[in-house]
This record gives sequence, structure tokens and C-alpha cells, in this order.
Amino acid sequence: MKLIFLGPPGAGKGTLAARAVDIVKVPHISTGNIFREAIAARSPLGLKVKEILDAGKLVDDETTVGLVRERLAQGDAGGGYILDGFPRTIAQAEALAGFAPPDRVVNFDIPDTAVLERLGGRRTCRKCGANFHILFGKPKQEGICDHCGGELYIREDDREGAVKKRLEVYREQTAPLIGYYRERDLLTGVDARPAADQVVENFKKSMGL
Ligand code: AMP
Repeated sequence: MKLIFLGPPGAGKGTLAARAVDIVKVPHISTGNIFREAIAARSPLGLKVKEILDAGKLVDDETTVGLVRERLAQGDAGGGYILDGFPRTIAQAEALAGFAPPDRVVNFDIPDTAVLERLGGRRTCRKCGANFHILFGKPKQEGICDHCGGELYIREDDREGAVKKRLEVYREQTAPLIGYYRERDLLTGVDARPAADQVVENFKKSMGL
């Protein structure tokens, strides 16, 4: 099954995708995580994209599409994928349609006020990318990842100025994908406001799983 998880920053796409992997048995591929890993490793890609990510802007389509194409060519993606954070522009969606068209696009719906509340309290693991929240999803031990023991930190782009920029970029460049996929009869909507367990249930129901 080839699935795209669409929605604004803070909709919970990453958390949901990590949970959905056990249900649909395909790899979770997050372009944001790939970029953050590259930055942590100080690779040429990381050096190129660091400032762009910190500012909450988008990495160029050519770089991003190239990366996804390479990742989908790996063996574990043979049975499909859950793409989280890609595509983010119509050009990326058109490119994907050419090499690995999705079977379904799940749109996680959430108002801006909830996004600001979620991202303001988000803590991310430096090692495995897992997300926690200081109010809604505390780790067992403060500052430490439950899954791998890595250090939790505040993403530079979760700071207020960058969040506003990301929402603006989302509205201008990514939200048009909702209409794009609806026209192609691929869109399924899921209410992303409740807690993660409930959103997982909403996802399963909307997919008939
Ligand atoms: P995310 O973790 O999905 O919120 O992504 C974090 C940041 O990575 C974004 O704000 C962008 O700077 C960059 N990024 C992730 N996915 C893409 C994409 N598909 N196209 C362009 N930039 C991306």
C-alpha cells in the first residue's frame, strides 16, 4: 500500500505514521527526518539544508524529489510506503505520480490554534526522531526518549517565528495538494484534533482497516 500523510505541521503526521507502520506493514518515510539526520551528521546535504530548515522554509523540489526517489528504490519500500511530509508542493506531487503514484492520500485536519499549542510543547529525540509533548505525551523520564534513550530537544523550527513561517508556507504551497488529490479521487479526511490513540482509530475506520 502506498500512502501519503498530508496535513499542516503539528497535525501529528509523524506520530501517526510511526503507529500506522504496524498496521499497514510498509516503511515510514519522513523527508523532515531525513533532512534532520543529514544535518546531525554534517553531511553535504545537511550543510546545504540546515538554514532552510531552521527558517521554516522549503528545501528545493529537485533535491527533495531526488532524495525520495532514492529512498523508495531501497528494498524495504518494495511493498509500498507511508510518506510523511512529502509531497509538499504540486511539483513534488507531479514528480511522485511519475515514479511511485500513491494509492491513497490521508489528510489530517487540525485548526491553527491546536497546531501552535502542539508545536510549542513538542520535544523531539535527537537520535530516533520520536516526538513527545510536555503536556500531552510526556516521556517517562524528562528529557530522555522512551524508545532509544536519546536526548530530547526543541527543534529550531518549533520556535514561534519559524512555526508562523511554516504555517504560511503550508497554506501557500502545500494546502493546494488537498484539492489536487481530491480531484483525483485519492483523498481521505481524518480529524486530527483528538489524542493519538483516537486518531489512529479514526485513520483505521476511514481506511476500512
Ligand atoms: P517536517 O519534519 O516534515 O515538519 O519537515 C521539517 C522541514 O524539512 C520543513 O520545514 C522543510 O524545511 C523540510 N522539508 C521536509 N519535507 C520537505 C519537502 N517535501 N519539501 C521541501 N522541504 C521539506
